[in-house]
This record gives sequence, structure tokens and C-alpha cells, in this order.
Amino acid sequence: ETIRLEDYRPTDFVLERVDLTFELDPAATKVEARLIFHRREGADPKAPLVLDGDELTLTALHLDQTELEAARFDAGAEALVIRDLPASEPFEIMIGTLIAPESNTKLMGLYRTSNVYCTQCEAEGFRRITYFPDRPDVLAPYTVTIIAEKTANPLLLSNGNFLGGGNYDEGRHFAAWFDPHPKPSYLFALVAGDLGVVEDTFTTASGRDVALKIYVEHGKEPRAGYAMDALKRSMRWDEQRFGREYDLDIFMIVAVSDFNMGAMENKGLNVFNDKYVLADPETATDQDYANIEAIIAHEYFHNWTGNRITCRDWFQLCLKEGLTVYRDHEFSADERSRPVKRVAEVRHLKAEQFPEDGGPLAHPVRPTRYREINNFYTTTVYEKGSEVTGMIATLLGREGFKAGMDLYFDRHDGQAVTIEDFVRCFEEVSGRDLKQFSLWYHQAGTPVVTASSAFDAARGTLTLSLEQMVPPTPGQSAKAPMHIPLRFALILPEGQVATPSAIEGGDVTGDVLHLTERQQTVTFAGLSGRPVVSLNRGFSAPVNLHLEQSAEDKALIARFDPDLFARWQALTDLALAELVAATQAVKAGQAVAVSNLLVDALLATAGDAALEPAFRAQALALPSESDIARAIGTGNDPDAIHAARIFVVRHVAQAGQTLFATLIDEMKVEGPFSPDAESAGRRALRTMALTYLSHAEENPARAKAAFDTANNMTERAHALALLAQVFGDTPQAAHALSDFRTRFADNPLVMDKWLSIQAAAPGHAALERVQTLMKEASYNALNPNRVRALVGAFVFSNPTGFNRPDGAGYQFLADQVLEIDRRNPQLAARLLTAMRSWRSLEDRRADAAAQALGKIAAAPDLSADVSDIVERTLKG
Ligand code: ZN
Repeated sequence: ETIRLEDYRPTDFVLERVDLTFELDPAATKVEARLIFHRREGADPKAPLVLDGDELTLTALHLDQTELEAARFDAGAEALVIRDLPASEPFEIMIGTLIAPESNTKLMGLYRTSNVYCTQCEAEGFRRITYFPDRPDVLAPYTVTIIAEKTANPLLLSNGNFLGGGNYDEGRHFAAWFDPHPKPSYLFALVAGDLGVVEDTFTTASGRDVALKIYVEHGKEPRAGYAMDALKRSMRWDEQRFGREYDLDIFMIVAVSDFNMGAMENKGLNVFNDKYVLADPETATDQDYANIEAIIAHEYFHNWTGNRITCRDWFQLCLKEGLTVYRDHEFSADERSRPVKRVAEVRHLKAEQFPEDGGPLAHPVRPTRYREINNFYTTTVYEKGSEVTGMIATLLGREGFKAGMDLYFDRHDGQAVTIEDFVRCFEEVSGRDLKQFSLWYHQAGTPVVTASSAFDAARGTLTLSLEQMVPPTPGQSAKAPMHIPLRFALILPEGQVATPSAIEGGDVTGDVLHLTERQQTVTFAGLSGRPVVSLNRGFSAPVNLHLEQSAEDKALIARFDPDLFARWQALTDLALAELVAATQAVKAGQAVAVSNLLVDALLATAGDAALEPAFRAQALALPSESDIARAIGTGNDPDAIHAARIFVVRHVAQAGQTLFATLIDEMKVEGPFSPDAESAGRRALRTMALTYLSHAEENPARAKAAFDTANNMTERAHALALLAQVFGDTPQAAHALSDFRTRFADNPLVMDKWLSIQAAAPGHAALERVQTLMKEASYNALNPNRVRALVGAFVFSNPTGFNRPDGAGYQFLADQVLEIDRRNPQLAARLLTAMRSWRSLEDRRADAAAQALGKIAAAPDLSADVSDIVERTLKG
């Protein structure tokens, strides 16, 4: 059944208060919900009250303390309908339900993980706890009482402030919580069990003392220190940058080991996948530390963008997600290196969102229909949503954007609103019309911008011609021209920025060129020499830019543009063009050529001591195999792409052998481990140099030595990956893998790295390896992190293995999806999105992929999650 944006209407009843009592038991938890409603003014006086439910057993139903007679209600599988309710005065509905947390394998609603009770309610999990108007525009204050066996559950947590607790009856105790901030049901949380805690305090700008608590499994407390540090820095940053203070007496984070997503922003009680809380030098990589910092910040920032101001309906998901991703990106950029962070964001956007936007699952940032909302927690809603927010900041400038945010917080605090409400705040503070700009929310597909320039030496003018095209996407065949803000500069041979005396024919403000028509020509006058155009600097718009520019001009930008991001972009463009050509050569059985221009540009950047090491490492990271596939577009042969890329890597490696050996020495970080950005950057450049040098030498000795001497997980895991993925058939690789397993067998999060590294090792034998690994003690098909580490790494990060020509990889995914779907539909649907680019494969593989998709589509009893993805993937 399809839900449509245009069908939105408010509820007939207003919810005033919620009072919940839980008597916890793994097999039979009793939930009593007391809900005070009144009929909305102007609502139909005959309208029944319709509450959502999912897999519930109804045990009691009272209206104002009196049992309701059977004739006045219907309790169906998905709804409880109550008739003949008061026309205007408030009334209380009491609902008793019975649920079984221990058999809840969907990990939605109330479930068990390692003997802990926990909840996940976004988007529609609360209806698996009790009958309720389970939609984001129904806000109320909650009182929650939890009763549970005392020894097994010393800890009883819910949202808001602690009211009190004590003994209840023989062996049981209770705790009561009150959350004064009206909230929708998706932000409800309950946690109960026996956990260790790390505690701290935070004093807000206005002097409120907040208790901070991070709960983890006993014994893991020392690994929660970095998360606590990141939390305090996030709280301070939101005060300083956005003027947002925390608003309760306590802020809690609970780390759990079974979780479908990264984390969840429940009011005052965030629940996290433990992967994004736990870290220490022995077990976490620099990337793990960066992820923890970003996700702790993200969930904390939701307190204002998501919780205090929430979404009117789930079509507005980007209202909280795109905005909050933008905020966490800004936080990381402020805490670390801004250009390095931006490069990482754009890499991620291109690797994940561009393929989504260019395939059968493409959808607008603000969709207008869905069958299963869980399938819309996508990189389009999150990452492209963040880019759209960033473009508003580009259009309005830092001060204008801040003013718009202030108005948004002021005007909509306590409300459930829409994207239109959000955009209106920026229109009002700036006096700008953002109607055309808003197409970014409504039109799916990555715009293609084609640009070329011509210099007239006699007149001293440069003419820039621009054209935009938004490709058709499912359900949207024709598109209107968008407002595309392109940051630019005209770069002179030594890197100086040319300032033209006049600009004609274009809408330019400062260093932003506004492309608003299908075709536009801009002329820059008063130029004494020919400058090179640096366009879409900072990736100011998420577009596919085809800039007709010579390799020499690109190399000039790569070397001299004062904007580091633009340098990286030019280098990447240069490399991508050659990787595409190399792939065509491999396919045609011809010799592969790599230009000196590219090699020199890469090595010059890598060896430039004036640049920060993290940036130099990023400059050396060539486009990935999927970047190359996307650039080629159709008829893709992953084996040819892999062979071509390896050839280019070897060529660069041989040319830079001396430099790479020097970097390995120079970038060694002395002293005790610190996860700070600078040290991490040095490790990134050092490991990158090791990758190249190992390719040049075609010998695992250096990687094995690095593995044996590593004193931190970043370098250890990197060396292991090099051994397993480049030198997989050597005894050194086998030895390192078994050594690693012995050392970390008792740490599941570290064993996930061991599984992923092997699952991503290229070649057609990967499938058999993955099937063998599924029998390992460290694998557990019931735990989402384990499944993602092994099956996920194989289908998402191993193009040659997954896409082997006989289609066995697709058949394996189909079988996994069907099996996992029976217990955890969200996880199954997520894995299935690995098929989203199947139409861009060469015929034999595409046919095999279609066959596997057909097998899933034909299977009985599919979940809504999987059937939605499989149907769209086949159709689009
Ligand atoms: Zn979020």
C-alpha cells in the first residue's frame, strides 16, 4: 500500500498526555498505556479514534476507567478503532498489551540484546509496544514507570528527568521518568538491564548542570572515554555555533550490540550501535574515532533539529536528517581540518549517493510517496539533504544562514513542520525567493553540468559557457532547470586568483555563479593573461560536472589552486579520465598508458611538505572501482576495471618508490597513541605510502613487517588488508590473518574488521571464502554488525567478487536476503540495495542479476521492506 504526501491530514484527536507502565519480562512484558485525548476543534464529531498497532496482543481496553464493551471497538492486526467517543471534552483511554521482547528479531519496538531490554521506535516501532497514534505530528509529554526484576535489571531508564523509584514487590523494583518536552512516539526509549557506566557533567552556557552518562557492557567502560569527550565538545559547539543549549537535567547514551542502524536520538536517552561508542588504541582505527565523534555529535544535535522541532510526516525526514548531517559535518570540519573533511564528504557522497540517484532507487530528497518508510533512510535523504542545506548557506552566507536558523528555532520550537516551513525562514531573513532553489528537494537525479571556456587574448575576455541537464528518474521524466550555485575562481599560472574588471551575462555574487537556466554564458573582462577556470570549488553543488578543460589546465589547478578541495578535485578528474581510458584499453586487449602529467601531479602533491599529511593521503587515493564504473556508465566489466586500476597503481608506485619509502619513515608517529586529526593524518599518509610501495615491490615483506610492528589498530588493520587483498595467496597473509584472529577473538567489533577485510579481497574466489567465513565462531547471522561486516562487505565492497560473471554472487545475495528477511526485514532490504547498479553491467552479468532479483520477487511472504526494494530495482 502506497502512502502519498498529498493525503496528509491532521488527526481527529489531540493527544494531551501519555502515561506508560511496563512490567518487564523477556517472554511476556505487560504494557499499560493511559492516553488523554480530546477531539480536535472542527473535527467530525462522529469520527472514530484510530490507533496504529503491529503484532500486539490486546489485554485490556478502558474508557475513563470503565471497560469498553466489544461493540465499541475493533482490534485488527494493524489498527485499534474506537467509536462513539466524546464530542469535545477530554477522555482517558487505557490500553493493556502483551509483548514478547525476546522473540522480537526485527529489532523494532522493545527487544532484547545481550540480556538488556532496549527500544528502537523510529520510524514506526512504537506501535509494536502499544496501540498509539504512531506518527510524528502527535506530540505529548510522557510519564513512564518501569517495573522489573531487580537483580537482572538494576538499571531502569527512559526519557526525560528521573522522578524516583524504589522497591515494588518481591524481587522487583521500579523507576519513574517524566519528559516535560512534548515529543512524538518515535523518540520514546526504554532501556533496562545491568550495564556499566561512565559519568561526567556539563554546565550549559546559562549555568544549568547536566549529568552525562554513557552506559556500556561491564568491563567496557574504559572504551567509552572518547565518546564522552566527543559529547562534551558537541554540547559546547552547538551553544557557540547555533546558540542551542541542552534542556534536561540528564543526558544518557546506551551502547548496545544488536542495532539495525548507527544510532538513535531518543529524547535524553540516545541508543547507539556499540560500534559507534567503543574505542581504544588497541582496537579502534582512526576512522572509527572519526565516526564516533561524528555520530555522537549527530545524535546530540538532533535534540534541537529533530526533537524540539520535528517532522510533520515522514516525507519530511530530510528536515531533521539532512539538516543534522549538515550540522555534524560542520562540527567535524571545525574540530578537524575543513578541506580534508570536505574531501571525505564528497568521496562518500559520490560513492553512495550518486549511484543511488543514478539508478532505479532514485528519489527526491523530499519524496512524495513511499511503501515502506524504513527504505527512505537513504544517502539521498541524509547526504544530499545535507548538501542542499549547505547550498542554502552558500546562497545566504554564514550570517544569513545563522539568521535563518535562529528564526526557524524561534518560530517552530515545539512543532512538527515541513520543508516549506524551513525554507520560508531563509526566504524571510534574506528577502530571496527560493522557489527555484527548492527544486533540489523535489527533483531526483544528479544534475549534469557541462562547461567550457574560451579566451580572447585580443579583448582580454574569457567566456564561460554552461549548460545543465537533470536526468530522468523513476516517476519523473521531465525536469525543470535548477538553481545551481557554483563557486569559482579564475586561476593564473602561478596560482594567483585573477580579478576581472567586469562580468557580463551571468548572475554572480562574490565568488558564486548562479546557474539558473538550461544554458548560460558568462563573460569575464579585463584579463591580461589566460586564466584557468576552477569551477564548483568546495563542491558547492552536488552535480556531475563535465568541464571541458585540457589535462594541462587541470594539472595547473591540482598544483596551484589556493583552494585545497579544488586541487583534490582536479587531481581526481585527471586520474579518473586515465582510469576510464585504461579500462577501455584492457577491454580491447591494448597496452595501458599512464601519462607523466598525472604521475607528476600525484607525486608533487604527495611530496609537498607544505600540505597537511591527511590531505596528501587523500590526493594519493585514486578513484575507486565503483567511481570508474559510474564514469563509464554502461556495459561495465568489473574485472577489466580492477585490472586497469591495479595497472595504474603499480605504475604510480614504481615512479614514486623513493618518495614512498621516505614517507614511511617521515610519517611515523612517535610517542603514545593519540586519535587527534594530525596524528591520524600522518598515519593515513604513511599507510598510503605503504600501499604504493608494496605494489611497486610486488612483495608482501614490507606489509608483513608493518603488521608485526604495528602498535595501533589503524596500521595493523591496514597492513592486514594489504596482505589479504593484494598478497592473498602468500603464507605471510595466512599467518597474519590467523595471528589477528587469535589476538582479537574475544572482541566482536575487531573481528568484524577481520571478516570485512577478507570479504572484500578481490577475485572470483571471494564467494567461497565468504561462505567458509560464515562458519567461523566470530560470525553470527543474527547480529546486524556481523552480517554487515561479512555479507555487506562482500556485496558492497568487492566488485570483482560479487559481480563474478557466472552470477553466483547475486544468487548468494538473493539467498541471504530471503533468509534474513524472515527475522529482520530492515537488514535484508538494506543488503539488497547492493543490486542498485545492475543495469550498468555488461549483458551477461546484468542477465544474471535480473535472474537473482526475479527469484527474490517471486518468493512468498516477502516483507514490505524487501518487496518494495526488489520491485523498484527491477522496474526502474
Ligand atoms: Zn539522524
